[in-house]
Amino acid sequence: MSFDFSPLLIRTAEQAEKDCKGIFERIDKTVRANRARVLEAFIDCRVSEADFNASTGYGYNDRGREKLDEVFARCIMSEDSLIRHSFASGTHTLTVALFSMLRPGDTMLCITGTPYDTIRPVIGIGGKNRLGSLADFDIHYEEIPLAEDGRIDIDAVRNALAKKKYAVVYMQRSRGYTLRPSLGTDEIEEAARIVHENSDAAVFADNCYGEFVEPVEPTAVGVDLMAGSLIKNPGGGIAKCGGYIAGKRELVEQAAFRMTAPGVGREIGATLGNTRELFMGLYAAPFVVGEAEKTAVFAARLAELLGFEASPAYDEPRYDIIQAIKLKTPDNLIRFCKGLQAGSPVDSYVSPEPWPMPGYENDVIMAAGTFTNGSSIELSCDAPLRDPFAVWLQGGLDFQSGYFGAMSAFSKLIENKCPD
Ligand SMILES: *Cc1c(COP(=O)(O)O)cnc(C)c1O
Repeated sequence: MSFDFSPLLIRTAEQAEKDCKGIFERIDKTVRANRARVLEAFIDCRVSEADFNASTGYGYNDRGREKLDEVFARCIMSEDSLIRHSFASGTHTLTVALFSMLRPGDTMLCITGTPYDTIRPVIGIGGKNRLGSLADFDIHYEEIPLAEDGRIDIDAVRNALAKKKYAVVYMQRSRGYTLRPSLGTDEIEEAARIVHENSDAAVFADNCYGEFVEPVEPTAVGVDLMAGSLIKNPGGGIAKCGGYIAGKRELVEQAAFRMTAPGVGREIGATLGNTRELFMGLYAAPFVVGEAEKTAVFAARLAELLGFEASPAYDEPRYDIIQAIKLKTPDNLIRFCKGLQAGSPVDSYVSPEPWPMPGYENDVIMAAGTFTNGSSIELSCDAPLRDPFAVWLQGGLDFQSGYFGAMSAFSKLIENKCPD
């Protein structure tokens, strides 16, 4: 293997990097602000080596676990939080949060269209599914599609709230496998304000991929509870697994009872030596998220210069670390994923193929040459095989490795197609 890319690709990449300079400076400013908040939280909460000690068994009196909840809450701008290696995935974490807020007879209203693929069976979209979905427990669900421009349809939300009582209003910050724009905290703030002015529903956000992308977080602008995955942004590429729930103190407390058991809540849960990595990942997260964003911006510009449409465009505002690129054909899509995999530090010799992944409607192809299985704060890409054959690219622990990963992907994509 050698990274000897074609002269055309190298010239194009040089131009792309030049074009990205101003955007990279903007990203650095956000990283600086988030870095300050995170470091201050560590200092003010007096994080110490003793907090990294492992607990076993029930995990009673685990001071490190309690301190981590406190530090994480400050970093993510929430009153309180639960951050645990024992959440198996983002979907598991979101499931715990939703079941903690909703009771039989309640209705949840999603205001950002149909949620992310793996959340649909959790809600039981399409009816009772005997999988233990919300629908199985007589928790009802309605959704409001996004408006024509991809933003929340505020008028439709107002109308819905006037007609009916909802227990939870749900929004998804990131785009998932769609080409909608991600939600900025300005838009989240407006929607949360409308909900609070017109109802007593709790506002919930799926914050996956959004953490530390902006200098403020959803819970600082009116969201009552949110959740996300630690093998995405807030684990900083260091957490080996886990998730978090953060927000209003009483809602976090309720979530703790659903996370373990009523009565014991957050008092138990052995950390088994994971606490140090969760602290360290959180500490790294603002920087790593910035590097992932730079990788996305660079890949977007490179795609544009090579004649592909990037969403968001390289210079559009970003509210998550996801970069979609419309590759037009299944062949292009598969080549791109194979190229990205080939430029990864782990399993570079493996060739990804489309497969029917559990929880997803279409066959999915994924490239993830990652140290942590399925980690998408590490450079990775995935795509369901469906029109317009867009690939969703995310992660990159440092821009330099993101650069080579992206170059390897584009190199495979344009192989034999663009003569010099
Ligand atoms: C990643 C993600 C989830 C949860 O996914 P897991 O693969 O279960 O960690 C939920 N919602 C969105 C928008 C996501 O990006």
